[in-house]
Amino acid sequence: MDPRDLSHHSPYVPGRGVEEVARELGIDRSELIKLSSNENPHGPSPAAVEAIHEHAERVNVYPKSSHTDLTARIAEKWDVGAEQVWVSPGADGSIDYLSRAALEPDDRVLVPDPGFAYYAMSARYHHAAVETYPLSIEDGFTQTAEDVLSAYGGERVVYLTSPHNPSGSVISHEAIRTVADATAESTLVVVDEAYGEFAEVESAIPLADERDDVAVLRTFSKAYGLAGLRIGYSVVPEGWGEAYARVNTPFAASELACRAALAALDDEAHVRESVDTARWARSYIADELDAETFDSDGNFVLARVGDGAAVAEAAQERGVIIRDCGSFGLPECVRISTGTREETREAVDRLNTVLAALEPGAEA
Ligand code: PMP
Repeated sequence: MDPRDLSHHSPYVPGRGVEEVARELGIDRSELIKLSSNENPHGPSPAAVEAIHEHAERVNVYPKSSHTDLTARIAEKWDVGAEQVWVSPGADGSIDYLSRAALEPDDRVLVPDPGFAYYAMSARYHHAAVETYPLSIEDGFTQTAEDVLSAYGGERVVYLTSPHNPSGSVISHEAIRTVADATAESTLVVVDEAYGEFAEVESAIPLADERDDVAVLRTFSKAYGLAGLRIGYSVVPEGWGEAYARVNTPFAASELACRAALAALDDEAHVRESVDTARWARSYIADELDAETFDSDGNFVLARVGDGAAVAEAAQERGVIIRDCGSFGLPECVRISTGTREETREAVDRLNTVLAALEPGAEA
């Protein structure tokens, strides 16, 4: 007995973990600076930690009112109807819910290349096919409606990522509108704003509210520092609201995740600090790293370094874990998440040493 043919499914390649690398190098984890998974270097909001403690003794019951309260709180934040908010285990969970709600077998989705791997993975689980539109390194990964539309061939779902992973580029509201206007009535445009808080552009959520063909993804994993809890959401058009009950995995967003997210939403100072640090760090990296970098609106910076795998490996030996972008189809690049100010300065220092040592002509 075998699983079904999964040969078209590519495995998800996560950034490397601290424990894993510390064990491999035989050093203490505190010696490592982990900048490989776009996590929040400030940790979670203390209010979220307190909420987790407070509710820990109640995890014998399924999450019901916490889920309802979180949905209502998010709806209030964005001024949309509660039925438009699909709370999910991470934004990844929302990608699955939208796949379940939208895709029939043999439908197609259109995703950016390079881009976030899970769009295609989820589509394939749902027996859909995957087409891509290119974002070009030579254009600094700029995103235009024309790039998307010239690859568009009637796909059921079109993914836009803003800020884009791994480059950090954004797409304007005007371009999102143009894509949504030019695509078929049956095409849903999904704007992934997992890194939206860090961006200088406004959220596309008002478009999801005013139109019937735009949905927006958001997460608590990044600016809110709750990646380990797996909690995110999508905001869907009004007419899609009713589908949630038919497609969501029952109670997939856990009690502690919902409670922590509620507390995190109220801790504006924590989010502000997280965003301020990321904005500072991304310009510090762009200014100080001895390599070509791309303008980023996220909590990470993509850098063109020549041999990304070699740089990531040498960086790791110096205690800095960064993301080699081979799995994104960018073998010449690494992606560096923003750390605290101290971590970022130290990491850039060590990375510059690595880059100098790997430069052609440097002593081996
Ligand atoms: N979208 C993008 C562009 C991402 O980079 C990520 C996580 N790396 C996600 C969505 C999913 O985030 P999560 O499931 O943790 O909310």
